Amino acid sequence: MSMLRGVNALRRINALRAGRLAYVGALILATAWLIVFPLYSHNIYWQGILFFSFLLAVMASGWNIISGWAGYISLGQSAFMGLGAYTTALLTLHLHRTPWLFVPVGGVLAAAVAALLGVVIMRTRGHSFVIITIAFLLILQLLALNLRGFTGGSTGLTMPITTFPRDWQYAPFYYVMLGLLLLAIAMSWAIRRTKFGTGLIAIREDEDKAGGVGINAPVYKVLAFAASAVLIGVAGGVYAYFITFVDYRGMFSIQYAVLIVLAALLGGRGTIMGPVLGAFAVQILQDQANQHFGSSQANIVVYGAVMAGVVLFLPRGLVPSVAEWARTYVARREEGLSGAIDLRPSAVPAVRDSEPGPVLLEVKGLTKTFGGLRAVDDLSFSVREGTITGLIGPNGSGKTTAFNLIDGMMRNEGGEVWLAGEQVDRLPPWSRAHAGLGRTFQITRLFREMTVLENVVAPLRDFRWRQLFADAVAGHEAERAEELLEFVGMRRFRDAQAAALSYGQQKLVELAQVLMLDPKVILLDEPAGGINPTLIERLVEKIRELNAMGKTFLIVEHNMPLVADLCDPVIVLARGTRIAEGTPAEIQRDPLVLDAYLGEGWAVEEAVGA
Ligand code: ADP
Ligand code: MG
Repeated sequence: MSMLRGVNALRRINALRAGRLAYVGALILATAWLIVFPLYSHNIYWQGILFFSFLLAVMASGWNIISGWAGYISLGQSAFMGLGAYTTALLTLHLHRTPWLFVPVGGVLAAAVAALLGVVIMRTRGHSFVIITIAFLLILQLLALNLRGFTGGSTGLTMPITTFPRDWQYAPFYYVMLGLLLLAIAMSWAIRRTKFGTGLIAIREDEDKAGGVGINAPVYKVLAFAASAVLIGVAGGVYAYFITFVDYRGMFSIQYAVLIVLAALLGGRGTIMGPVLGAFAVQILQDQANQHFGSSQANIVVYGAVMAGVVLFLPRGLVPSVAEWARTYVARREEGLSGAIDLRPSAVPAVRDSEPGPVLLEVKGLTKTFGGLRAVDDLSFSVREGTITGLIGPNGSGKTTAFNLIDGMMRNEGGEVWLAGEQVDRLPPWSRAHAGLGRTFQITRLFREMTVLENVVAPLRDFRWRQLFADAVAGHEAERAEELLEFVGMRRFRDAQAAALSYGQQKLVELAQVLMLDPKVILLDEPAGGINPTLIERLVEKIRELNAMGKTFLIVEHNMPLVADLCDPVIVLARGTRIAEGTPAEIQRDPLVLDAYLGEGWAVEEAVGA
């Protein structure tokens, strides 16, 4: 019976591999066909359609970097096509050389403008970012229309006629644009494999959390915006030369801005080939619509229908949907995502060092208000190196808010935070992570679309430019991540999607993720909340082991027997401030503490009886 199951599982894995091979093979064949097409067919009509498909695919592929991966939706991406087109046209007309020379300049300029715009607007998120990208496109349109002496105004600019032989037809343009498309695909592929790519996905999934694990989001986003613009700028120059005419509406094109998004959504944003395949589909569809209905009005109806169809039936796009379908059809490779986790005792002895070291983390007079509510009110305490310090208090007493102020998710209004002798309360979250602060969340915040292993390798201990180009999951880091997964007993889930794990399993993975930072202090926000007793036992054991290895903890927890068992000292919060501190035994006798909890109707006996 079990052998039969084994054989079936093997067959499934082979089927999956075969499917992937067939997909890659089909892509290679299609590319080969596209390369030879103009050599044997002189069908100029199809050369044109394919040229425009390449153009749209280059743009959708660029859009995918900032919007598909980083999650910042741009509705003005065609602005970079216009910048490239005008740059190439103006340089050609003023310097009287071949436009091919200036096409790359358009790309560089587009990337530079994108980076500059990125620096200015990257503090905005969500809808405001979308609006600003539209505004940017419209402003460029207006400038192109009104700087008449420079851009030719509404008349536009006319490019020189091509000089190559007529019987080459569109071939030179065709090949240049195809080359750009292959470059765009290679760039996407390279980005997706590096720390840069996983960093962008982390930002899309949860930007605050990404900061907390050391990812310098502003730098990532600005680079992504520049990368998303560069090839669009180059393509704009080629497009201008191809149609020989540059005007404000055709180049800073609103229609293209929409088509780009449509192509990427149809094919599947956040994938490498999705936007490309989507672009071919949209371009061919548009051409068919033109032939059958003629008027541009009908075109809009067709776009609308396709857009609605995508949203309704393929919300994630063609490529991810087909891949998902194949995976479920071929069934689960990993049997038992819900299986029990590994509970073998680990080898490290859990000996507690009784001598606390110097102060490692200190907060002084910390304050944060929400409206009139003083959530954290002149809070001071310190955590000594080598301790497992407890932080307890009734619900709403400001524990999570204190964590948010310490790790930089929120800005404090008053007071200071010191970590290992350095004042960190003005530093951004990633710098605090780099300085040695790790934190888990009350409600786990894994990057849900990533695998377990990708989640654990995502944290970054520092920021280096070189690191952006490093493989996302490779070498020493991948080994360390696997070790940590082994440590928390989650190694066999390394390839599972984070979202597929149970809540308790997610908590263990989040612990491994934080350990990847190799932090000096680890803040745990209700680590035992909402998870089953077996997992709690495992968690306690792991915390003890880590502490024995020299890690310092600050733990917020409601499970009082656990706190009494694990923590020393214990700090008690009420109404945002510290009301007591001492050993668990001292705390349970403190009248102030009893009062704070009794006021909340807590069972004091249970709370301190362990
Ligand atoms: P604890 O973690 O101790 O249960 P919190 O720090 O989550 O408490 O909350 C402290 C107080 O601040 C609560 O009254 C809560 O409602 C309020 N609070 C927390 N976060 C916010 C926020 N983002 N906006 C407004 N009020 C908040
Ligand atoms: Mg809380």
